[in-house]
This record gives sequence, C-alpha cells and structure tokens, in this order.
Amino acid sequence: MSFPYEAPVSQSLFDRASAVTPGGVNSPVRAFRAVGGTPRFMVSGTGPYLTDADGREYVDLVCSWGPMILGHSHPEVIAAVQEAVARGTSFGTPGAGEVELAEEIVDRIEPVEQVRLVSSGTEATMSAIRLARGFTGRPKVIKFAGCYHGHVDALLAAAGSGVATFGLPDTPGVTGAQAGDTIVLPYNDLEAVRAAFAAHPGEIACVITEASPGNMGVVPPLPGFNQGLKDLCAAGGALYISDEVMTGFRVSKAGWYGIDGVRPDLMTFGKVMGGGFPAAAFGGRADVMAHLAPAGPVYQAGTLSGNPIATAAGVAQLRLLDDAAYEKVDAVSAELRGLVTAALAKEGVAHRLQVAGNMFSVFFTDAEVRDYDAAKAQESFRFTAFFHSMLEQGVYLPPSAFESWFVSTAHDTAAVERIAAALPAAARAAAGATA
Ligand code: PLP
Repeated sequence: MSFPYEAPVSQSLFDRASAVTPGGVNSPVRAFRAVGGTPRFMVSGTGPYLTDADGREYVDLVCSWGPMILGHSHPEVIAAVQEAVARGTSFGTPGAGEVELAEEIVDRIEPVEQVRLVSSGTEATMSAIRLARGFTGRPKVIKFAGCYHGHVDALLAAAGSGVATFGLPDTPGVTGAQAGDTIVLPYNDLEAVRAAFAAHPGEIACVITEASPGNMGVVPPLPGFNQGLKDLCAAGGALYISDEVMTGFRVSKAGWYGIDGVRPDLMTFGKVMGGGFPAAAFGGRADVMAHLAPAGPVYQAGTLSGNPIATAAGVAQLRLLDDAAYEKVDAVSAELRGLVTAALAKEGVAHRLQVAGNMFSVFFTDAEVRDYDAAKAQESFRFTAFFHSMLEQGVYLPPSAFESWFVSTAHDTAAVERIAAALPAAARAAAGATA
C-alpha cells in the first residue's frame, strides 16, 4: 500500500537508527513492519496525546503498550520522579521506595504475600519460572500458544505479540534444550492441559498463562478456564503462574485477579506498576517466595532492581489509581468500543470486538476468537488500511492487528471526539482493503 502523507523527520531518524540499530528499533513491533510505512519517532507526550518529531499530534491508543494509564506526563507522577531524581539515581542498596512499592502491591493483590522487584516483565516471568522449577524440583512448563511472556528463551515457543506479528513460530537462537521442557498447548483448551498432566506425571513444574491474554489481540479466558488451570495444577503438584504484566493494575485495582478471583501461586507484573519506568515484579505464596535468594537457594538478582526513580514513579502512579480512576478508564474504553463497532458496521466490515476489562482489540473476522489459530485467521490486511487511515488523521493505534488497544484516565471528551471523527474514513479504508 502507498503512504501519501509523509513524516520526513521521523524517516530521517529511522534511517540513522537503521544504520546503528538492527531494524532501526529497540523493540521489534515499533518498526511498523506489520503495517508498513515510517515508524513515528515521538518527542513528547501530554495527557492522551503524543507529538512526533515532525510536530504532528496524535491521540495515543497505545499508552506505551499499557503503562501510561494516567496519560502522559501526569503532574503528580512527574513531581514524584523529580523529587526522587534530585536525591540520586541509583544506590545499589535497599531503599524506602522499594518497600513502599512492594507494600502497595501486597496491599492490592491478596494472593501476593511477598514480592520481588525486577526491571522488566521478561525478568519477572523468567524468574517466576526458575522459582517454580526450584520449588517443585520439576523441569517442565506448560504455556499457551499466542500467550507472550516476554523474550524468555524457554517461552519463545508459539508466543504472541511481536512474534505473532512476524509469524515466527520459534526464534533462531533458542536451542532445543532451552525449549524442550516447554509444552505449548492451545489456549482455552482445558482438555489439552488435562492430557498433558496425564502424559507427564510428576514432571510439570508450572502452568504459566496470561491472566487474560492481550498478545494475540484480546482473547479472554472462557468461563472456568483459569479456575480449571488452578485445579489441575493443584491436583498435579504444579504451580499456577498468572502473568499479569499487561492486566495487572490496569483492568482493576487488583488486575485480572480482581475480576476473576482465581488465586494463583505466583503472579508477574510490569507495565503500569512502573509509571513509565522499568519496574516489574513477581510474587505470590510466601512459602514459595521463601525459596528465593538470599532467603532460599534459588538465585535471582539485579543491579537496578528496585531503582529509586522507577519505584517513585510506580508508587505515585499506583496511589492515584483509585476506584474512580478505573471507572473512568472503563467508561472511556466502553465508549470507544461503541464508536469503533458502529463505524465498522456502517461500512459492512466483518469484525469482532473482544474485551477484557478496559482492554480491547478489533479482530477483522465474524467468528469468536478463542485461541491463537482463530486470531491468525482474521483479515489483517483490513487492519493495515484501518491503521494507516487513523494514523493519517492523528490517531495512534498499535501497529499490529495482534495487540490490545489501551486508554487512560486522560482520554477526555476532546480526545474521544478526535477518534470519533477519524473512524468513518478508517472504516471505509478497511472496507475497501484488498489482501
Ligand atoms: N508478559 C506479558 C503478558 C506481556 O504483555 C509482556 C510484554 O508485553 C511481558 C510479559 C514482557 O514484559 P517486558 O516487555 O517488560 O519484558
């Protein structure tokens, strides 16, 4: 497809970036390969808006892939960061900010009795799996096709997100040994999990699942699926790990756990809890966490874990996320969903909006999407046309059909009106798109 509108400054930055960085980006989905065109280099963000290097403003429906739930540059988060940064940037010692952030997490999420802070969601899931293996003394991990848990070697089998975008079922560089203990099953298929437990008695350390997947687009668990996983784990002597890196502190005060109430043994967090800084965590049952160094034998560490700036941002953001904030985000999400579906329906575009709390995505298909195969069967060429029309009109969507859309408390009437004004042309573009 051709791109009549230009972004010359972004293009020149991308050219420079491509000379010094593989593919010109530091995280693959940012390169726009799934949709084509010039990735926008952003220079600032305020509330629901981003401004790119060409001076063009966009309503942001990516929110840094989830973290910016209060919008960009929230004054209280910025003030907390400024106050923290004035005291120094890293000490390599324990600090009060880490205690405050850990207490915020433990207070909000009842199954988390103890928590360890790390710097990325990938570290959180990698460490949680190591801990599960160390605790149970077992090798195997069950994961689901289309669930993305970061770029952990053992979990880069049939992962969603960027891996989904690039259609790589696996990645070179991950050896058979690293992925050999990973059992990949279809999502929402409890029978498959039951069969795996029966086939590998005493070998399965844990089942890891996105609490409600957002990395193959939004594909919520069917009623009873998470509870079934929990029960099969309990019966089979394995740990149930709920990955709430995306849903945690986003879909409710207590994340997806706050919605379905299924009690995991371990949970992982990231994104919102860092207020836009690199902070993540894993936590859960105290008797399991007690196996972690230095309390126990399972090693895990990090030079910048619990960084004072990141924890200050995280604490400030979490303290602002009260019931009213979630009501606001839920309401904006519902309003947008209504506008999107009305615009697409008017143009006769087959589509399905799938929802998990305030996260949602549009699948260009008639059928309900319950797993990764169904997600991949959508007409993603329609998304490409839809995406570019929205971008041209100043609305920044995730540059892939396999991602959740994110909104914030800062998405006010003016921002929603801008999106509403852009939708009819984008829906026409989707209707007219060809494969
Ligand atoms: N787990 C889930 C559910 C995610 O969505 C992501 C990132 O998108 C990760 C883990 C990895 O987090 P990070 O990108 O911070 O390493």
